[in-house]
Amino acid sequence: MNVLVTGAAGFLGSHLVDRLLADGDRVVGIDNLVTGSRANLATSAGHPNFTFAEADVSQPWTWAHDLEPPRLILHFASPASPVDYGRDPLGTMAVNALGAMHGVELSRASGARLVFASTSEAYGDPLEHPQRETYWGNVNPVGVRACYDESKRYGEAYITSAIRQWGIDARIARIFNTYGPRMQPDDGRVIPNFCLEALRGQPLTVYGTGAQTRSFCYVSDLIEGIVRLAKAETLGETVVNLGNPGEFTINELAQILSDVASVPLRTVTCELPPDDPTRRRPVIERANELLGWQPKVTLREGLLATLEYFRTVVDPQAPLAR
Ligand code: UDP
Repeated sequence: MNVLVTGAAGFLGSHLVDRLLADGDRVVGIDNLVTGSRANLATSAGHPNFTFAEADVSQPWTWAHDLEPPRLILHFASPASPVDYGRDPLGTMAVNALGAMHGVELSRASGARLVFASTSEAYGDPLEHPQRETYWGNVNPVGVRACYDESKRYGEAYITSAIRQWGIDARIARIFNTYGPRMQPDDGRVIPNFCLEALRGQPLTVYGTGAQTRSFCYVSDLIEGIVRLAKAETLGETVVNLGNPGEFTINELAQILSDVASVPLRTVTCELPPDDPTRRRPVIERANELLGWQPKVTLREGLLATLEYFRTVVDPQAPLAR
């Protein structure tokens, strides 16, 4: 089938493109290369079923008139790390809000199913733990993360309104922390930062006490979940959590990463950024029941593969972001 992927040169987008091409789909990838990179498309670039266009999806999708109508639109374009969206809060709001509106427009015109990459950040600093899809979240609407959290929530609200008002076919994935090869070394996230610090023999920088938790999903598991969500004939729900329910404190992550990297555990602390959620863990019963999906890759296995990526593909001296 014809699939349109926005954010195709990004971490998740590029893995999605590879998977869709392997499944025999014809893929058009769009990216403005602000946080994505052409290097992520090295495996798909010459593929006969792949076309890439450099465009900003927060601008009107005029290029879509020249396309064969897609059957599936995957809207994955957005800066996704606190450092990246902190660099361009308004651009982040635009790509999520206006990008979702343009995706809805094309879905309505073409009949394509729209899949929106939402986020566990929609739950904010959650008062309910672990997080089910029915939880409404606890988000600071004027905080430093608001540009991301609230524009993803706006995207969710716009898409569900379009389902109600126009009957478009759409689904929303709430994606929890995902990691693996092709993460940018300078996106400021904890796993790239820890990997590069370990490879340089530097202490791992823990923000705050390190008692805050996250649940880390390896990228191949996440992509399997997205593809199942996107291609399931019927679903019966619009919103589905995708993530690994294994929950680790950042201190535990530092210990496991050091083990995997065969370096002694050494940490330094620095100040916790504002509005940093204290805990996060998905309930994935819905994905399991509706899609037969659950993650398979353990944190150790995933960290080993990610560390190998940073060791061999990325300049280990690449700058870190805070
Ligand atoms: N973190 C850390 N050291 C780093 C980068 C992040 O201790 O070098 C912490 C951060 O404060 C947060 C957790 O790790 O509590 C996950 O941060 P990340 O930016 O990866 O994801 P998010 O906060 O968006 O879940």
